[in-house]
Amino acid sequence: LGRAVTRVVLLSGGMDSAVVLKLAARDESTISVVVDYGQKNRAELVCAEDLVLRSTRRGHLVKCRLPCDSGVIFGAVDKGRTLAEIGAPGDSPKAYTPGRNTVLLALALHVAEHEKAGEIWVGANRDDYEGYPDCRREYFDAFETMCAAMGKAIVIKTPLIHFSKKQVVALGRDLGVDFNKTSSCYFGTECGACDACVLRKHALEI
Ligand SMILES: [Zn+2]
Repeated sequence: LGRAVTRVVLLSGGMDSAVVLKLAARDESTISVVVDYGQKNRAELVCAEDLVLRSTRRGHLVKCRLPCDSGVIFGAVDKGRTLAEIGAPGDSPKAYTPGRNTVLLALALHVAEHEKAGEIWVGANRDDYEGYPDCRREYFDAFETMCAAMGKAIVIKTPLIHFSKKQVVALGRDLGVDFNKTSSCYFGTECGACDACVLRKHALEI
């Protein structure tokens, strides 16, 4: 890297993180963290890498792979769930993956500390608030407090926190984000039926 890293983006490959990456990558000293935790949606990992390649200079990506194959970590809660259990419309809380964002943020913190970066950027937004307690600003404030307790001045940047998904899409279009290069479906098949697909379809309607 030409300059010291100042920003770490936690990138999933979905719509929200694509917009956050676009915002953060205005500063060249941005690095992305993509985590393979055994998610059913494998396409989003491809999308995430593609977004990084097109938004930042090559090499600004840290790929992490959690030992999901053991079935001990996320694999156990994610695999084998039916559509009704995993985010059917209106059931988004069931798509909550226990502890996921805490683990992902911990990995981002690892990279931030290693690179001496002061900011971690995440794509949490208003539509996540209800069903996902680890997407609320109170949660990110508490994470900052935890970092401070370690003597680390890390700021969790949540530029979309007051945006609905529709507003996220509008902002992304203004910024030139190609949402065709993002993936949201829980199954990675663009099934059109899961909560993520329904929210995505609604958000993309003009
Ligand atoms: Zn779907």
